[in-house]
Amino acid sequence: MPDSFISSASAGWRLAHSYAALPPLFHKQTQPGAVSAPHLVVFNTALASSLGLNPETLAQTGSAALFAGNVLPEGAHPIAQAYAGHQFGHFTTLGDGRAILLGEQITPVGERFDIQLKGAGLTPFSRGGDGRAALGPMLREYLISEAMHALGIPTTRSLAVALTGEPVLRRQRLDGAVLTRVAASHIRVGTFEWAAAQRDPAALRALAGYCIHRHYPDLAEAQNPYLEFLGAVMERQASLIAQWLQVGFIHGVMNTDNMALSGETIDYGPCAFMDAYDPATVFSSIDQQGRYAYGNQPLMAQWNLARLAETLLPLLHDDEAQAIELANAAIQSFEARYEHYRLCGMRKKLGLFTDEADDSALMEDLLKWMQDHEADFTNTFRDLSAGTPLPEDVADQADFSSWHQRWSARRSRQSQSVVESQRLMQAHNPAFIPRNHKVEEALAAAVEHRDFSVLQRLLGVLAKPFDYAADQPGYQTPPATAACAYQTFCGT
Ligand code: AMP
Ligand code: MG
Repeated sequence: MPDSFISSASAGWRLAHSYAALPPLFHKQTQPGAVSAPHLVVFNTALASSLGLNPETLAQTGSAALFAGNVLPEGAHPIAQAYAGHQFGHFTTLGDGRAILLGEQITPVGERFDIQLKGAGLTPFSRGGDGRAALGPMLREYLISEAMHALGIPTTRSLAVALTGEPVLRRQRLDGAVLTRVAASHIRVGTFEWAAAQRDPAALRALAGYCIHRHYPDLAEAQNPYLEFLGAVMERQASLIAQWLQVGFIHGVMNTDNMALSGETIDYGPCAFMDAYDPATVFSSIDQQGRYAYGNQPLMAQWNLARLAETLLPLLHDDEAQAIELANAAIQSFEARYEHYRLCGMRKKLGLFTDEADDSALMEDLLKWMQDHEADFTNTFRDLSAGTPLPEDVADQADFSSWHQRWSARRSRQSQSVVESQRLMQAHNPAFIPRNHKVEEALAAAVEHRDFSVLQRLLGVLAKPFDYAADQPGYQTPPATAACAYQTFCGT
C-alpha cells in the first residue's frame, strides 16, 4: 500500500471524484500495490503542463514513486471501475483488473481528466490475473496514443511509464511497468452493459445522466436526452472510426469494453497501422477470424453501439415496442453518419474543396488500385500530397495514369489552386505514422537494452506527422518483409 503523500499545492494536483459519487455498484475502493524499485523511464512534460502539473516539482518530490503507484498524489481516492463487455461477440463481466483510477484532474482551464494507473497491481476485478503490465506493451500504448494525438485523432493520452523493478510472468519473465493514462473518462459501452446486467434502473439512469453531464452537457435539456445521447455517441464514434480508417489505423480489439463513451480511442493493445492497402488487414494474433480487420471497423463500431442502445431501452421510452423502434432507427443512422465523415475526410485526402457526385467512386478507384498493386497506403497519399511522382513502376501503369487524369480533371473543376489543394492534402495525409517495424525497433531497444533513445527519437518524429519539410526517410519506408507477416500480441 502507498505509504506517503506529496503536496498538491506545489505539484499542481487538483483531484476531484465525480465518478465515485455514482452508485456503489460502479466502483470499488482499492490501492495500488507497492513495488520494490520504481524507475521513471518516459514522462510527458507537455501533457503534464497542460494538466496543470508542475513537472519540476514532481521530479523533485519523487515522480518515479508516484507513477509506479508507491506514493499517492494528495487528494487521490483510488478506485477500480466495474464494467462488463462483449469480447469477440461474447458477453462477460470484467472491470478494471489492472487499472486504478486515482481521480479526475481539474486543469487550469477547468477541464476534467481521469488519471489512471495501468498495471498498478491487484484490484477486486483482477480475477485470475496479476494486475500487472509489462514494459513493452505500456511503452507501445504510450507511443501509439501520443502518435494518434499528434495526428489529431481523439484519444486517451499517456503521461508516464515507470518500471516497477519487479518481473511479470507472461510467456517469459518480463520487466513490470505502470502506465499513467489520461482520459476524458474511462466510461465504456461495457459500463452501460454492466449497469443493464444489474437490472437496477436507477443505477442505469444515474450512469446515463452522469455521462450526459460529463460528455454531452448540451443534451441535458433535450426533450428525450437519452435518445439524443445515443445519437451523439454514434456521431462521435462515426467520426472517430472514419479518422482511424483515414490514417490506416487498426485498433485490434474493438470489444465493447474498449469503446469509450467520450469518443476517444481507448485501450491500445495489439493495434497497428496498415502498410500496403488491404481492407482485410489484421495484425492481432488473437483475431483469427478477422472480426476487427481494417475494413470491418465501421461495422463493428455499429455492432457495439447496438449493444449500447439495448442497454438504454428502458430510458428511451416507457413503452418497450416504441423504445425498440427508436433504438433501431438510431442504430441504422450510423451508416449515414459514418459515410458523411468518410467522404469529408477522403475529400481532404484528395485535396477536394467541393462536392461532386462521383467523388466516392474516385476515391474507391484509387483504393482499389492500391489494393491491386499492394501500394503503401500512407506513402501513396503522401506522394500525391507532395506532388512528387509515384515510384516509376507505379506511375507507368496505365490504370494509375488514367485515375490520375480523372483526379487532375476533378481538381481543375474547383476554384482553388493546385497549391491550395496540396496544402489541404498535406494537412490531412500524414508524412509519418508509427511504422510497425520502427515501433518494434524502439520497443526492442528499450526492453532488451534499457536504451530509450530510439523511442524518444521516434516520439519526436511522430509528434509532427504532417511535417512535409522533415527529411527523415528512415521513418517513412515500409518494412522490407511482407506486411502481413507482422503480428501483434495482447498486452496482458
Ligand atoms: P484488455 O484486453 O486490456 O482490454 O483487458 C480486458 C480485461 O482483462 C479487463 O477487465 C482488464 O482489466 C483485464 N486484465 C487484463 N490484463 C490483466 C492482468 N494482468 N491482471 C488482471 N486483469 C487483467
Ligand atoms: Mg480493455
